[in-house]
Amino acid sequence: MPYSGERLRIARQRRGLSGKQLAEKAGLTPVTISKAENGHHVEEATFAACAAALDYPIEFFLLDAPQQIPAETVSFRSLAKMGAAERDAALAAGTLGVELYEWVSERFNLPAPDLIDLSKERDRPYIAARLLRQHWGLGDRPIGNMLALLESKGVRVLSLAENTKNVDAYSFWKAEHPYVFLNQEKTPERSIFDSAHELGHLVMHHHAGAKYNRDAECQADAFASAFLMPEADVMNEICGVSTASQVIRHKSRWRVSAMALAYRLHKLSLISEWTYRSICIELGKLGYRSAEPTGIKRETSVVWEKVLLTLWNERVTKADIATELRIPYHELEALMFELAGPKSASGNNARLRLVH
Ligand SMILES: [Zn+2]
Repeated sequence: MPYSGERLRIARQRRGLSGKQLAEKAGLTPVTISKAENGHHVEEATFAACAAALDYPIEFFLLDAPQQIPAETVSFRSLAKMGAAERDAALAAGTLGVELYEWVSERFNLPAPDLIDLSKERDRPYIAARLLRQHWGLGDRPIGNMLALLESKGVRVLSLAENTKNVDAYSFWKAEHPYVFLNQEKTPERSIFDSAHELGHLVMHHHAGAKYNRDAECQADAFASAFLMPEADVMNEICGVSTASQVIRHKSRWRVSAMALAYRLHKLSLISEWTYRSICIELGKLGYRSAEPTGIKRETSVVWEKVLLTLWNERVTKADIATELRIPYHELEALMFELAGPKSASGNNARLRLVH
């Protein structure tokens, strides 16, 4: 049976190990690891030793060649903070996430992708945000549940695993399917903003030969800000704001952080530069720079709740899914971390057609 060197690399990257580190753990030489990963013939015992060292089922290496996520098609925000191992671990999670979603899509009718190509508007992200809202018939209303909205438009949302904390979030297209990976360690408000930011990348950048730079990051942020807080609605609701406590009182309407709302008010010229700065200082003192003291509840996935509940009724557990995908159970848990919510059995009436 042919073992897949590419899959060995994926498993090693998920563990955050270099070839040398894996060699040490598995009692092999780095040359052997490199040969195995590059598809040269190595003994079966090599894969067995690696599987044991990585705590991965050896069957994982026997599956078809994996769906690699090319690094250049992915937008990473904080590249400076992130090491190569962390980036590779996040990309490898992307591969596992695609395989998980393909497993689900063979059993469920998932919503079809309904995104539009707005790459022509990337220099005017506020227009792109308005056009997408128009396309989806959202008007200027605040978004009640960003995660459910993305899922209902065919965006496949997964969690970023625990060993990739410096990655904010990332997104990519795999064939016609858009994917977003969220870092669920952040505040719910930040996750919502990240979702909108990645949505911006998906509609403005991924079609255009994917060049990621500072500009693309600013454009995605501006898109997120305009998409979550439409100008007309903000103008309608906000009048005469001048203090941090007023910003805190208003933010829940758009489910954003106090800092994000203050920034939006400043951008829309509803507060002066001076007021904006003093509000930011005040918010910082109140702990709103790194956290969200009066925060909202984390959004949960409608897709995963329904999928898990349906499978559960058929006596299929998460452990069974992990076994079918030949991945360790905790890898599956990481991909769904905090997405399905504590009680999958709760009735959820979000607009999402999911036919089993
Ligand atoms: Zn970005």
